[in-house]
Amino acid sequence: MYIFAAINKNDLNFTIMINKKLQDAINAQINAELWSAYLYLSMATNFHAQGLSGIANWFEVQFKEEQDHAMIFYNYLVSRGGRVELKAIDAVKTEWATPLEAFEDTLQHEEKVTSLINNINALAVELKDYATQNRLVWFIDEQVEEEESAQKMIDSLRMIKDNPYAIYMFDKELAARTYTQASPLATSAE
Ligand code: MG
Repeated sequence: MYIFAAINKNDLNFTIMINKKLQDAINAQINAELWSAYLYLSMATNFHAQGLSGIANWFEVQFKEEQDHAMIFYNYLVSRGGRVELKAIDAVKTEWATPLEAFEDTLQHEEKVTSLINNINALAVELKDYATQNRLVWFIDEQVEEEESAQKMIDSLRMIKDNPYAIYMFDKELAARTYTQASPLATSAE
C-alpha cells in the first residue's frame, strides 16, 4: 500500500495526462490519416472508372487501413485523457492517368507520412513521453512496409509499361488483396 503513497501526485499527472503539444500533433496525425484514407478511396474510384477493379480493390483495402491508423491514434488519445479534435479534411486529387502515376503519388505521400510520424516521435522524446514513443513503434514499422509496398508496385509497373496483358495480370494480382484489421485495434478491445 505504501508503494502508492511513495508516488508524488505530480508524477502521476505527468504519466497519465498527455502534453498539449503532443495532443495537437496527434490530432493533426488523425487528420492526416483520414486524408490518406480519402486519397486512396479517390484512387480506387479512379481505377473503377478505368475498368481496373483489382487495382481499385487494392486501394479500397488501403482506405480501410488508413481509417484503422486514425482510430489507433484516436483510441490512444482517449486512453491518455486527451481530447480528440476532428478538423476539416482537405480535398484530394481525383484523376490518375495510369496505375504508375497513382503508385508514385502513393509512395510520395507515404514518405510524407513517415516524416510526420518521425516528428511526433521526436516531440515525444523531447517531452520524455515514453508511452507515446512506445505506441509509435508500430507506426514506424508500418511506414517501412507502406513505402516498401508502394516501391514494389512502381518497380513492377515500370517493367510492365503499357503492355495490356501485363496490366491485366497486375490487376488480377491486386484483386486478391484482403483487409485485415490493424493489430493495435484488435488488442485494444481487451
Ligand atoms: Mg497511415
